[in-house]
Amino acid sequence: MAKRNENPPQTEQVACSICKQDIPLSTALMPEGAGYVEHFCGNDCYAEYLSMQDKKAGQPIQKK
Ligand SMILES: [Zn+2]
Repeated sequence: MAKRNENPPQTEQVACSICKQDIPLSTALMPEGAGYVEHFCGNDCYAEYLSMQDKKAGQPIQKK
């Protein structure tokens, strides 16, 4: 019997932009239309990133 080579399918790994954890590209969150490419392992890191962006922009939120 021939020896079978069972290679797992190659999954592209990307690093989460916040926690630097390696995650499969297929499960990474990628916000579109923002002019940048970032990957996030989950909503928590994405929310963290958004709050960092808000602080960086330094735009006061206008309240009515
Ligand atoms: Zn993360």
